[in-house]
Amino acid sequence: MNNTLKELDTIAVENFRQYLRIPSVHPNVNYEPCVEFLEKLSKSIGLQFTVFRDVPDNPTVVVTWMGKDKTLSTIMLNSHMDVVPVFEDKWTHKPFDADIDENGNIYGRGAQDCKCLGIQYLEAIRRLIKNDFQPRRTVHVTFMPDEEVGGGNGAGMCVTTDNFKRLNVGFALDEGGEGVGNTLVVYYGEKKRETITVHCTGQSGHGSSLLENTAGEKLRFILGKFYDYRAEQKKKENEEQRTDNITTLNLTMVKGGVQHNVIPDEFVLGFDARIPPKNVQEFETTINGWCKDAGEGVWIDPSENEAHGSTSLTDSNIFWVAFKKAAREMGFQTDLRILHANTDGRYFRKALIPTIGFSPNLNTPVKAHQNDEFLNINVFLEGIRIYVRIITALADA
Ligand SMILES: [Zn+2]
Repeated sequence: MNNTLKELDTIAVENFRQYLRIPSVHPNVNYEPCVEFLEKLSKSIGLQFTVFRDVPDNPTVVVTWMGKDKTLSTIMLNSHMDVVPVFEDKWTHKPFDADIDENGNIYGRGAQDCKCLGIQYLEAIRRLIKNDFQPRRTVHVTFMPDEEVGGGNGAGMCVTTDNFKRLNVGFALDEGGEGVGNTLVVYYGEKKRETITVHCTGQSGHGSSLLENTAGEKLRFILGKFYDYRAEQKKKENEEQRTDNITTLNLTMVKGGVQHNVIPDEFVLGFDARIPPKNVQEFETTINGWCKDAGEGVWIDPSENEAHGSTSLTDSNIFWVAFKKAAREMGFQTDLRILHANTDGRYFRKALIPTIGFSPNLNTPVKAHQNDEFLNINVFLEGIRIYVRIITALADA
């Protein structure tokens, strides 16, 4: 390893650790220390720095690397500044100290989810600038607030603003999942999260009678259908050994009843479902059918219809072609998947921006949201090298 490279690695690790030391942790995150830190960092690389303050207390940081051709749509490299809470007594290293252990593991909340990405993007650009590379397309490195609590005050709002529209984003990278072996996992869509509320109504009366048409019998029917379906999905998951084609379904709330000797006129069931985009319509038809079959007085509350678009990864998408080629040249395969969780990516896709959820951190135990979250120094540095190639390819597509 030559000296300059070693020096760049040291700088990258130091910046990562500094960012981890900022406790941008829920609830009530103060983002200003992140904003200050990112301003200093981006200026040290020679990049333009802007903050959108459309939502009070929820700034969006935009770091811009100007391209040669300003008429082209731009590339967005997104991550979020906020992190989930910690149970500090369960950590062997303090969650906001960024300690490194003897194996080179860097500990900190956000080490994987996803402060690493923001620094890896910027440090990859620092290297490209050092090599006198100037991109054809402008590249925006964005840092969102609020992702870990749904992103409504972050990316969700941001994509609707004029400030954001002026960025003219043509393609985005956002957080994804870690790859294994020689395979980069690429998420092109997300499961739709559906909160299902089923009302089972019927005849009320004395607890000592065997009335017809009771809420309890309908509850039993509905529960049977939902849990038969769940068992099928579970079987499919075991067979396929992957979860992205699976609909998850769980009973999470039960409401009803006033006292033991009164048959109530209603029970309300709450379910949490996560549905692959291509199965949403069929699933909704199916559960509505069950309600019909359950008898009169059973219905589902209308859900907010937030359909999650997917990004089409075909050969007509020049950014995907460029990504895939860069991956292949580095000796990687790509595995296309639907993400089981929700990220800011869904807002970008909704704003019709083709978006890939992707992490360059390979072969690392998944520690997002867990105690002792860490990322190994070598994985982190290798991730920067992967981004160097991918950013080059995207920016020149
Ligand atoms: Zn995240």
